[in-house]
Amino acid sequence: MSSTFRRDWITKPIFRMAQHALPRLSDTEREAIEAGDVWWDAELFTGNPDWRKLLAFAPARLSDEEQAFLAGPVEELCRMIDDWRVNWELHDLPPEVWDYLKTKKFFAMIIPKSYGGLGFSSYAHSEVIRKLSTRSICAACTAMVPNSLGPGELLIKFGTKAQQDYWLPRLARGEEIPCFGLTSPEAGSDAASMIDTGVVCRGTFQGRETLGIRLNWHKRYITLGPIATVLGLAFKLRDPDHLIGNRDDIGITLALVPTNLPGISIGRRHLPAMHVFQNGPNWGHDVFIPIDNVIGGVDQVGKGWKMLMSALAAGRGISLPSLSAAGAAFCANVTGAYARIREQFHVAIEKFEAIQERLGRIAATAYLLDAARRMTCAALDDGHHPAVVTAIMKEQATERLRIAVSDAMDVHGGKAIIEGSLNYLGSLYRGVPIAITVEGANIVTRALIQFGQGAIRCHPYLLKEMSALEDADRARGLDAFDQAFWGHVGHSLANAMRAWGRAWTGGILAPAADAGAATPFYRQLSRYSAAFALAVDLSLLTLGGALKRKEMVSARFGDILSELYLASAALKRWNDEGRQQDDFPLLEYCMAASFATIEARFDEIIANFPVRPVAWLLRFMIQPFGPRRRGPSDRVTDKCAELITNPSATRDRLTVDLYHPDEGENTNGIALLERAFAMTVAVQPLRDRMHTAHVRDIDQAVKQRTITAEEAARLKTAADAVAAAIAVDDFAPAELTSRGKANNGDQPSQPMFQPPLASKPPLEAPAPSPPEVPTPHTQAAE
Ligand SMILES: Cc1cc2nc3c(=O)[nH]c(=O)nc-3n(C[C@H](O)[C@H](O)[C@H](O)COP(=O)(O)OP(=O)(O)OC[C@H]3O[C@@H](n4cnc5c(N)ncnc54)[C@H](O)[C@@H]3O)c2cc1C
Repeated sequence: MSSTFRRDWITKPIFRMAQHALPRLSDTEREAIEAGDVWWDAELFTGNPDWRKLLAFAPARLSDEEQAFLAGPVEELCRMIDDWRVNWELHDLPPEVWDYLKTKKFFAMIIPKSYGGLGFSSYAHSEVIRKLSTRSICAACTAMVPNSLGPGELLIKFGTKAQQDYWLPRLARGEEIPCFGLTSPEAGSDAASMIDTGVVCRGTFQGRETLGIRLNWHKRYITLGPIATVLGLAFKLRDPDHLIGNRDDIGITLALVPTNLPGISIGRRHLPAMHVFQNGPNWGHDVFIPIDNVIGGVDQVGKGWKMLMSALAAGRGISLPSLSAAGAAFCANVTGAYARIREQFHVAIEKFEAIQERLGRIAATAYLLDAARRMTCAALDDGHHPAVVTAIMKEQATERLRIAVSDAMDVHGGKAIIEGSLNYLGSLYRGVPIAITVEGANIVTRALIQFGQGAIRCHPYLLKEMSALEDADRARGLDAFDQAFWGHVGHSLANAMRAWGRAWTGGILAPAADAGAATPFYRQLSRYSAAFALAVDLSLLTLGGALKRKEMVSARFGDILSELYLASAALKRWNDEGRQQDDFPLLEYCMAASFATIEARFDEIIANFPVRPVAWLLRFMIQPFGPRRRGPSDRVTDKCAELITNPSATRDRLTVDLYHPDEGENTNGIALLERAFAMTVAVQPLRDRMHTAHVRDIDQAVKQRTITAEEAARLKTAADAVAAAIAVDDFAPAELTSRGKANNGDQPSQPMFQPPLASKPPLEAPAPSPPEVPTPHTQAAE
């Protein structure tokens, strides 16, 4: 069949039909889709990922200079911060911390060295945020914002030479504090619907008549806004007098607005979940700026949305995923230690299976999130800007952090609930909803971006087909469509065969990397990738544009793509870290959990798919026996729990480079916990000996010569350390009512906690068998 015959007699009618069936892109959607690029996400969409490519991809590395920054200024900054005082007494970082942040260039990690910045890699930037997050959410958010979406990044990417020369050195030196104002009361997730305006006009600026823009806005939730000296402002530009062109409505535009101009109200603060990083609303009334303040100059007017999307593509993959990975590792560190030192029913709570279930999940989450963080940073450092991957990272990392922190809180019980300097979890717990809401609230990110944009952007043919359909030149469009469509048909048929074959054989013959014990995991992922590609094609074919509104279906596809990405990252981590056998339970857990979620989501898609014959076909092709995977086994969960309740190389790898406060700080909950954990582990052989001799009392054990007097002293010291670590703060009523006024930002807080004497009964040896399960009645009585 000649290609002309195929195009004119077969493709043409399909072309006409497809013009109605396929989703049409709005301008803002097109700009969002064209921003950034694709990476491993596109490989997963092919249905046949090439695992060799993944494993050959170089892991992220730090330069010597970056390592020195982490070991020097970052460590020092962590030491300078007393988070309790920052949050509850000062309601801000102390002045010396602000100075340190500026002079050591924490706000200039992404600014190139040629402009006086640090010029760090994405990985180094991520590592800095990671460590800071484990000391102070306030400090981490403060350092995050100037290095994420905002004036700095926009100037580097789109600024004119003059703008870069003027602003970047000032930002690098900390002389200017930037913020970025996009969100307004009316426009949150639908940021493009903002009603903040700019009108091109002539006005007077610094005594001179100038072509400029008169701005009116109301923004809210703006991080660093209250103290910013320069506001990156997003607004809709109009040119009714046609002073810069012949369009009335120019569209979303970004400009730099010095915050000391007349007409600006800025400085009031929000308290986001009682966190005290600077955040607040601001208003502008008839504020006049020269047209040269438009980022990128007059040529970039109306291109603000595209600029924002392209800047967001990278930043979204660094800031919040780093904070989340840090948070999960932190939870693994403190919860594993706490479960080891805390005893109830005469047993360390780590021995209870229901606690192990939570510990196992925390440990595996820490492993997975850091794997994905490292892999994504490596991609960014390799020059990619994969917008779908970064959306996956932002949504998945923050959602999983939410589960990890909740698990950690539950395992700690009241210890994590009572606020004070001894509480090391409350701040993170309160911070999670912020991470979930900013940089694209998670519900909308999961429902619309991961898959909605992912399908169009990552699919090997879809975007080509859509572009061909929208081509104003019909003949050229038909030609392009003919090529893309038949490529698509071949791709779909190959995938149908793959998906069917791999599903019916349980994936045992699917392609895999030669990865030792992990090889079967690759086979399963190859199987799911083929099933995913087939299900996507059938959905697009039958639902077309309606798929955009079927958010529940779309979100489930987003989950499957996310699982495929995260599971790939875990496999890569295991490989990059030299296939550590001791870490294998963590990998097993991640894989089992991922496979169960993937199968559950396929099942839900099939059960709810509106076109029933397609649902039946999908069931037959990709999940003939229904979901078979049930998640991590109790055996694997137990092993993962053990990995964080005992010191080991695996535990060190999971919690590497978190901030560890000095042992001397006796009002710091983490320092006390780490000390108690180390001592508890050290005296374990003594307690085992007492247990074998059936003696619980230390003095009795000395009398019976089960232990020596020196060993008894060590046991008592360990017991004191545990008592100090499980203590919580309390306050005199007057302290609470007068705290804000009395301290007024310059008085140090009084230590609330005095380490107790060795008054608590010594720790008892763990019981060999599980205790009686307490009824709610007996538990309450105790
Ligand atoms: C602490 C904090 C700091 C911030 N910092 C900044 C900043 O520096 N600069 C800035 O410009 N903005 C900032 N923001 C704003 C942030 O980006 C917005 O809060 C976010 O975009 C969501 O907007 P919203 O809160 O108005 O929620 P809404 O848009 O009202 O959304 C409410 C809910 O509806 C969901 N939703 C919306 N549309 C859909 C849809 N189509 N399908 C499914 N679900 C949908 C959302 O996911 C969300 O769950 C900050 C916000 C906070 C809380």
